[in-house]
Amino acid sequence: MRIFDPHIHMTSRTTDDYERMAAAGVRAVVEPAFWLGQPRTSVGSFTDYFDSLVGWEPFRAGQFGVRHHATIALNPKEANDPRCRAVLDVLPRYLEKDGVVAVGEIGYDSMTPEEDEVFAAQLALAVEHELPALVHTPHRDKARGVERTLAVVVESGIGAGRVVVDHLNEVTVRAVRDSGCWLGFSIYPDTKMSPPRMVELLKAYGTERVLVNSAADWGRSDPLLTRATGEAMLAAGFTDDDVDLVLWRNPVEFYGQSGRLDLSDVDAEPTFAGNSILRGGG
Ligand SMILES: [Zn+2]
Repeated sequence: MRIFDPHIHMTSRTTDDYERMAAAGVRAVVEPAFWLGQPRTSVGSFTDYFDSLVGWEPFRAGQFGVRHHATIALNPKEANDPRCRAVLDVLPRYLEKDGVVAVGEIGYDSMTPEEDEVFAAQLALAVEHELPALVHTPHRDKARGVERTLAVVVESGIGAGRVVVDHLNEVTVRAVRDSGCWLGFSIYPDTKMSPPRMVELLKAYGTERVLVNSAADWGRSDPLLTRATGEAMLAAGFTDDDVDLVLWRNPVEFYGQSGRLDLSDVDAEPTFAGNSILRGGG
């Protein structure tokens, strides 16, 4: 089983995770820029983080045979802090970089007027830089958040096929499918979407335009839930080809729209050669 995790925050994960992911079949990941928990108070904190997403983290992933790409944006939560607003001004230079395959994650956290402005501005950047967009949906008041998200996407003029609306569930899946956007599902260990629930959604709505991710980060999460979903699909009667479509070819097609996805020499079998180069780094 070859796996492309289209949304995972590897900066928050350990080398043990990379080893386990590689052994489970994860060959490629996309790491979206997001909220790190501790509020940032200056633009410099963001540029150091963005540099790490396009520099250090792809290097670290490479030690384990995992191909790493990033999406870059001002996240919805910090869009509310006026000290972070100037991050919008530095985004264009990151959106030109080779390893950046989308603008993200953008969208709504609490649906404030500040979030409205920053969301629209970043969709405009996606259009300008001819990149897809990764859109986060709020964990509270999800149905209303998705409705408003889809309205802003339409207004921006970006093609629906260039947008993935993420963190969907049974309540929000239909509206996003009908919009023509891609459907993103984050599989969590004990809340929200689980592998069995994901399988039921795949039975009901099919495998087209569906991306399954672990969204693993600094909170309770599990980078192997993509693999667990693939296994649950097989147990429910889906074919190997169905699993390959959902866990590999769909994310390749979606992020491939950037023209920057580099999957050359990604092997069918794990090849990580250990992490000696990463020892002693502090
Ligand atoms: Zn995320």
